[in-house]
Amino acid sequence: MNPRKPKRVLLKISGEAFRGKERYGIDVDAVGKLAKEIVSSLTPRVQMAIVVGGGNIWRGLSKDAQVIDRVTADYMGMLATVINALALQDALEKLNVPTRVQSAIEILKLAEAYIRRRAVRHLEKGRVVIFAGGTGNPYFSTDTTAALRAVEIGADVLLKATQVDGVYSADPRTHPNAKRLSQLTAMEAIRKRLGVMDTTAFSLCLDNKLPIVVFNLYNKGNIRRVLSGERVGTLITSR
Ligand code: UDP
Repeated sequence: MNPRKPKRVLLKISGEAFRGKERYGIDVDAVGKLAKEIVSSLTPRVQMAIVVGGGNIWRGLSKDAQVIDRVTADYMGMLATVINALALQDALEKLNVPTRVQSAIEILKLAEAYIRRRAVRHLEKGRVVIFAGGTGNPYFSTDTTAALRAVEIGADVLLKATQVDGVYSADPRTHPNAKRLSQLTAMEAIRKRLGVMDTTAFSLCLDNKLPIVVFNLYNKGNIRRVLSGERVGTLITSR
């Protein structure tokens, strides 16, 4: 399968995309724009699942969180992803896209429980499935959740939406001479500690031969470009 022409994708959206220009929380305009971007990328060829982060509300490893027991802080982070998932579901459904939210932490009044076979069935029926609640386990990230769910549902590619145009040889914010890489392996990304995703997430992709495309979410039309096979961002392969 060509990761540049995927049929089933897992899109990872960090919490930061939900806060817009606010310092934290949810900016409904930003979520509305995000939903429009997603909807304009959908075609009958593509089945889309989404993993949402929660860093705009709470992050287990943040400074504020450190006075709280780590496991409790992580569960708070997982709950934050449920809030983002509901906001995104609402925005997508306002644009007439059928969606389902499935949560790894059971919260049955608000979302289905995560059941892999059911998620796949939703995708086959053309629904966008939003995975919330992370992996359901502390000490993990939503990037790892994205890699895990992508492998579980048999996605052709993991689309990692970020604030930058791809993977750089060094942090472009602090190293103006850093170069954007068009392709690299997951092992190189781990070894060079490029920081795009955590090692657990990369390892899962590497072991299960799942390609990753890292791209800039904030360039209008980019999700559509990535899905239509344009060489946007950086492709990370397993070898
Ligand atoms: N989290 C967790 N287990 C998971 C996924 C997430 O404990 O499987 C917690 C963790 O505290 C994390 C927070 O949820 O900091 C929010 O997720 P993340 O930081 O990955 O969100 P993002 O950076 O993508 O907004």
